[in-house]
This record gives sequence, structure tokens and C-alpha cells, in this order.
Amino acid sequence: MDETDCIILGAGASGLMAAGLIKNKKVLLIEGNRKAGLKLLASGGGLCNFFNADLSFKNYQSQNPHFCISALSSYKLTDFLDFLKRYKVKYTQRPDGKYFAESSQSVLKALLEEIPQHTQIIYNTKFENAVKTEQGFEVRAGGKNYKSKFLICALGGLSYPALGASNGAFNLAGNFGHTIIKTYPALCGINFTGVLKKQFADTAGITLEQAEITCGKKSFKGGLLFTHQGLSGPALFNLSLYGIKDKQITINFLPEINVQEYLKQHKSAKMLSTVLGTLIPPRLAKALACGIDKKTADMTKTETLAAAQRINAFTFTAQTPCGYKKAEITAGGISVKEVSSKTMMSALVPNLYFTGECLDITGQLGGYNLAWAWASAAAAAADINSK
Ligand SMILES: Cc1cc2nc3c(=O)[nH]c(=O)nc-3n(C[C@H](O)[C@H](O)[C@H](O)COP(=O)(O)OP(=O)(O)OC[C@H]3O[C@@H](n4cnc5c(N)ncnc54)[C@H](O)[C@@H]3O)c2cc1C
Repeated sequence: MDETDCIILGAGASGLMAAGLIKNKKVLLIEGNRKAGLKLLASGGGLCNFFNADLSFKNYQSQNPHFCISALSSYKLTDFLDFLKRYKVKYTQRPDGKYFAESSQSVLKALLEEIPQHTQIIYNTKFENAVKTEQGFEVRAGGKNYKSKFLICALGGLSYPALGASNGAFNLAGNFGHTIIKTYPALCGINFTGVLKKQFADTAGITLEQAEITCGKKSFKGGLLFTHQGLSGPALFNLSLYGIKDKQITINFLPEINVQEYLKQHKSAKMLSTVLGTLIPPRLAKALACGIDKKTADMTKTETLAAAQRINAFTFTAQTPCGYKKAEITAGGISVKEVSSKTMMSALVPNLYFTGECLDITGQLGGYNLAWAWASAAAAAADINSK
């Protein structure tokens, strides 16, 4: 049986970062795919949105969002920029604070080069099981057993199974007695069905720069995109972080304009859809006026109010958020109440660590999830280095 100081499960963003930061230890990195970092390669549309300049615990959803403060204040944007500079990876900061690399491939290459030569990486090896022994852990993967003193679970969440995602982290944590907070697909769009599908059948490709979308007390302003399936875009992605399935969603397609007032002032022989078509894309105006389209001069007070509500407060139930297949991230996960916020070590099992997406810490769109992957991995690596 192979014996090492530390086994890292998962060669994704956080597993690779941890492997690069653990010094003077014999490390074994186990990956199910035939290559490392497949999700990382897909990140940011191939440009890896690796951090955000404007970052706080408020950008994260969790049963305890404050959990991420310690790690994120120990491993900062400047640490990651220094790392990129050492490997001559070019990057840019966008006006909205998002940092992008010249390519995801260049970030992956740097992460792999940072890993000490003596660290062994084995690919095509699926994690099966882990048990605690007197000396540490015995891990079964790819039909073989491996022993180590420290174990880092960096197996990610359930999103994008095509890129290697599995329920490995939740099985492992559950078997060690950890609580798993109910998971759901997040940073994803919604599909329209039934009446909504019919109403918006001709809207695919329409984008709005500044729509406002609300569910309960959570509200986001930003881009909204109509797709062949339903709705997508940054504002909806961020809202999906808070669990929207079967909940009532309200969209203000024109937050800057009081449409009721506008319609009152623009009564004419023109049809409602034509008038609305001067404010929003005409195809969307037609879809929203559907069933109540008539000359604005002939509209009653109640009809004007109903038309305005369709633009300023369009309300529906989000029945079908897209699943894990297309969601960028898994919300929920291993409860942070049983993990140290400083070291990522389990409070139940000494020398067992959890990093990245498998924990119940989920960031908004904009580089927050990779920032968390780096920072949580750095916290675990620092603790292991100190032992
Ligand atoms: C399309 C897409 C785009 C994204 N873009 C961005 C972005 O631009 N910015 C951002 O901040 N976040 C982005 N994210 C989210 C980000 O990629 C994740 O938050 C991050 O990769 C999580 O890191 P991780 O190490 O926890 O998990 P992962 O990166 O998912 O790594 C987990 C690793 O474990 C391996 N694994 C899983 N199960 C097993 C098993 N049973 N046995 C062996 N190995 C296993 C997987 O193959 C994988 O390599 C994006 C996600 C997707 C899907």
C-alpha cells in the first residue's frame, strides 16, 4: 500500500492550489478525470474570472457566510496576482472589479508548474472511500488503497458532471459524520414551461442591460437574457444562489421608468405593443402585451395599470431552474459549522480538511467562487505545513 504524508482528493481549482502550497511533505493528488482542472478550463468562458476586487462575505451564500472571512483575509487578490506574475500569466481587471486571465489554460499551467516535483498526481482514478486509522487515513481509489496522515477533500460539488463532478465529497463527509446542507443547482437560468413558454416563444436572443429581478428579500440588477429555453443572465444567476425553485419571481424590465406614468402621458392611436416597443425590444414588447394589446388611447385605468405591471413587476413562479448539468455551481454542501474557518480542518475528524465548492460557501457570479477555492486551499495548506 502506498504511504504519503498527505492525500488530496480532486485536481480542480482548490486541489491544485493546495498541492502547490504544501511544502516539504510527500503529497499524492488523486483525480478522476484524465486531466487536471477541466472545470477551471471552462471558467470565465475560457478566460478564467479568477478573483474580484470588490469582495466580502456579503458576496457569499451559506448558513454562515461569515465563515469565509478568515480565509479570504489571509489569502488575498494580491497573493493570486503575485502567483500569476511569477508564471508570466497576463490578466486584466474589468470596470466591474472582475479579474480575468489571458486564458484559463495559462492559469491551469501555472498551477501545475507550482506543484513540487516530488508530488505524485494520478489521473483516471475515482475516489471510492476513506476511513480513519490510528495513524491517519486509508483511502480507496481506482481499486487501490493509499495511506496518509492528512487528507484534503477538494472534490467539488455536483455541477457539470460532464467535467468530472460527483457526489464524492458529500459521501466522504457524510461517512465521517458531517452534516450536509441540502444542495441545489445555482448560478443558473430557468426554463419556461406551459403558458410562459408560449408567451415568450419569440424572444430568444433578446438581452436587457439593466433589469431588476427579485425573489423575496433578494434583488439583483443587471443583465437578463432570453434563451430558447427561458431566461438566463447575470442578474438571474445571482438570484439563483438563494434558491428560487417554486418561488415567486418578479422582474422589472425597465427599473428606470414608471411605465404607468409613461402610458398615461403617451395615450394615442398607437397600439400598446408599439408604444412599449419604443422602450424595450419590440419582440419583448409584443410578448408582454400579448392578450391585452389595444390602442393606448382606448385603455382604461385598470388596463393601463395591468400593462405597466407586466413591465415593472412581471411576476411568475420559477418552476424549473436548470439542473446540475448546466448550473455553474452547487449551493449548500458540507456544513461549515463543523469545520474550522481558519484552517478548513474538520471539527469532527482531526487532519481531515475540506476546501472549495464542496463546503456550504457559494459565491455570486464574478470570480468569487474561484477566490474561495484558492483561499480555502491556502488555509488548509498553511495548517498542514505548520504540523
Ligand atoms: C462552466 C463554468 C464556468 C465557471 N466560471 C467561473 C469563473 O469564471 N469564476 C469563478 O469564480 N468560478 C467559476 N466557476 C465555478 C468554479 O469553477 C468552481 O467554483 C471551482 O472550480 C471549484 O473548485 P473546487 O476545487 O472546489 O472543485 P472543482 O474545480 O470542481 O474540482 C474538483 C475535482 O475533483 C474531481 N473529482 C470529482 N469527483 C471525483 C471522484 N469521485 N474521484 C476523483 N476525482 C473526482 C473533479 O474531476 C475535479 O477535477 C465556473 C463553473 C463552471 C461549471
